[in-house]
Amino acid sequence: MIDKINLDQLAIEVENEVQSRYRDIEKISFVNHQKVLTAFKKAKVSDFHLKGGSGYGYGDAGRKALEEIYAHVFGGERALVRGQIVSGTHAIALCLFGVLQPGDELLAVQGAPYDTLEEAIGIRGDAHGSLKNYGITYRQVDLLPNGQIDWQGIDKALNEKTKMVLIQRSRGYAWRQSLDIKGMEQLIKFIKKRQSGAVTFVDNCYGELVEDKEPCDVGADLIAGSLIKNPGGGVAPTGGYVVGQANLVEMAANRWTAPGIGDEVGPTLDHQRLLMQGIFLAPHVVAEALKGAIFTSRLFERLGFKVSPDYDEQRTDIIQAVALGDAGKLVQFCRGLQGASPVDAHVRPEPDGMPGYDDAVVMAAGTFVQGASIELSADGPLREPYAVYMQGGLSKEYVKLGVLAAAEEVLKTV
Ligand SMILES: *Cc1c(COP(=O)(O)O)cnc(C)c1O
Repeated sequence: MIDKINLDQLAIEVENEVQSRYRDIEKISFVNHQKVLTAFKKAKVSDFHLKGGSGYGYGDAGRKALEEIYAHVFGGERALVRGQIVSGTHAIALCLFGVLQPGDELLAVQGAPYDTLEEAIGIRGDAHGSLKNYGITYRQVDLLPNGQIDWQGIDKALNEKTKMVLIQRSRGYAWRQSLDIKGMEQLIKFIKKRQSGAVTFVDNCYGELVEDKEPCDVGADLIAGSLIKNPGGGVAPTGGYVVGQANLVEMAANRWTAPGIGDEVGPTLDHQRLLMQGIFLAPHVVAEALKGAIFTSRLFERLGFKVSPDYDEQRTDIIQAVALGDAGKLVQFCRGLQGASPVDAHVRPEPDGMPGYDDAVVMAAGTFVQGASIELSADGPLREPYAVYMQGGLSKEYVKLGVLAAAEEVLKTV
């Protein structure tokens, strides 16, 4: 059994083993920081752009500059970046409902989409106002048993009704591989060749700035995500974004407010400076989170657990999964992590039911911004393989402290 002293020794060894991976991460972070800096210069950001507006928010120059920055960084023609987009799910729903019309079909090509989208699409429940309720059909091609993309299945599923193809970059909370930018490029080419009129839409949540390219750089028509994940840099207090082809972003904006108003309104209140600062810091904060994930991966592998991804695997999202093997260890991991948080360290996580999940879920998050998962957080459903999905961390030192506290609690259960 590994005791506290041995754990500290192991941490030193692991820290040495992962150094070359840290250098890889720093290279990407440097490229992305350059990209962000160029975007700020191009948008000619000045002090007055950092001040918020009120009321309707007509003609807000700071908001326009921020959207120019996002369009540049994410490789699209236009962007909608707003504090009033309340979450990633909201940003994604704007794209789905903005683009799709009755009679169209949505095709998901990597199995079930992220949990929170199921009711919006109408896969689960019977909500008034779901895509299904509007006469928009849904088709899904599952991943093959080995986790790979089912090219034949996608070929068969594409048809003249397919108006939009939903692609997910991150693994989400599933024990499977994420779709990296190279794989995404292949997939988008394949889809465009067979159904050139279909809009390729990427749920980019957790993937932003992990690689030196983004989905629109390799042909995606439209992407969306949350500002309390990667692109908010741990600074944005709320918000979401949509980037892509100008006409498609306009459709999402029409859905966001009302047709005819689109993106012309939207007061920036007192969050304007924070959204600017957030995207500026995001390449660095994402790199810190990635270093923390890499350290965690190697540490738990050395402790004898199955991890995904491995520490030396290339990454396209910030999620680290560790299969802890039993419910007790999963709960203890979350308690250890929570106990090392700057906020709510005294709170003791308990497994509980969650809407949309069959099994109880246990989670840890002691964050400054409520629910922000670019800050260190972890969750896991109480079912085989009792995996904890951990992400975020504003500094790699903090992730290390948190994860060592979690490991200590896990080892107590042995
Ligand atoms: C987080 C996430 C979402 C939803 O974002 P919320 O802000 O939680 O609504 C959608 N897709 C993926 C892959 C995510 O990670």
